[in-house]
Amino acid sequence: MQAKQLAALLDEPACSHNSKAKSGCTPPKPGASDGGCAFDGAQIALLPIADVAHIVHGSIACAGSSWDNRGTRSSGPTLYRIGMTTDLTEQDVIMGQGEKRLFHSIAQAIRDYSPAAVFVYNTCVPALIGDDFEAVCRAATTHFSLPVIPVDSAGFYGTKNLGNRLAGEAMFKHVIGTAEPEPVAAELQRPGIQVHDINLIGEYNIAGEFWQVLPLLDELGLRILCTLSGDARFHQVQTMHRAEANMVVCAKALLNVARKMQEHYGIPWFEGSFYGVEDTSDALRSLARLLQDPDLTQRTEQLIAREEARIHTLLAPGGRG
Ligand code: SF4
Repeated sequence: MQAKQLAALLDEPACSHNSKAKSGCTPPKPGASDGGCAFDGAQIALLPIADVAHIVHGSIACAGSSWDNRGTRSSGPTLYRIGMTTDLTEQDVIMGQGEKRLFHSIAQAIRDYSPAAVFVYNTCVPALIGDDFEAVCRAATTHFSLPVIPVDSAGFYGTKNLGNRLAGEAMFKHVIGTAEPEPVAAELQRPGIQVHDINLIGEYNIAGEFWQVLPLLDELGLRILCTLSGDARFHQVQTMHRAEANMVVCAKALLNVARKMQEHYGIPWFEGSFYGVEDTSDALRSLARLLQDPDLTQRTEQLIAREEARIHTLLAPGGRG
């Protein structure tokens, strides 16, 4: 990745910490790890996409120290929990075998696991020795007729936070907008209720927490095209460009995706949270406001009033809370 592309990612205009001149993210000093490298940040942002084979191109330690460190849950496929790496050794570096090993690793992942797509995360060693991993991904995409997505995330690029943005950049550049969503299923249609499509960006379904919120969105007729990336499937990421609104749940991770989707597809977005009654009520109101549907606004207020009353009852002395 070129230095000016990295500088642009560090200077994210939508970030609330970036309101003054020269206030973008500071590049790390040599030797500083800042809680994780850019590769770690990229992988952690995308690993919850459950039906993808996630291959770490690099030495075994990169994969070993980062695998599955978020505890995200899937309601279906579990392929994302299988750690895959090209396991580059000193011999591979000396003999220039990195690209060949990567191609064979992709072939093995496709042959053994039939993934919906393959993500390849580049790390420090292959970036330093000059492996053209993007060319390998392009060749593999053609050869196997399956999306093989390069995630340019060498650890020395910067911090974990930068890695989150590198992951978002890869999704925006190579995946979002490459397929259309399914029509709304008959069981989701209810007379008099318009179904709206939305995305949740930076929601990771850690320990399955999002499944507590999902019934509220279902009741309001809000269909989630994709959560990037908790309990997501590759096809859902491909269809994100068709959403009517984006909610950014973790403001630090993937703001660049929401901003670019507004610029390219005209999708409005806001930052919100599902932690606590007040934040959840605010988030539902913000969604209704962006979707500009008076009926949805009315039903949202009714749902909020009902849920807040229920929770107050539970928390009252003698309640079951
Ligand atoms: S990508 Fe680089 S900094 Fe990150 S774990 Fe691998 S070797 Fe270490």
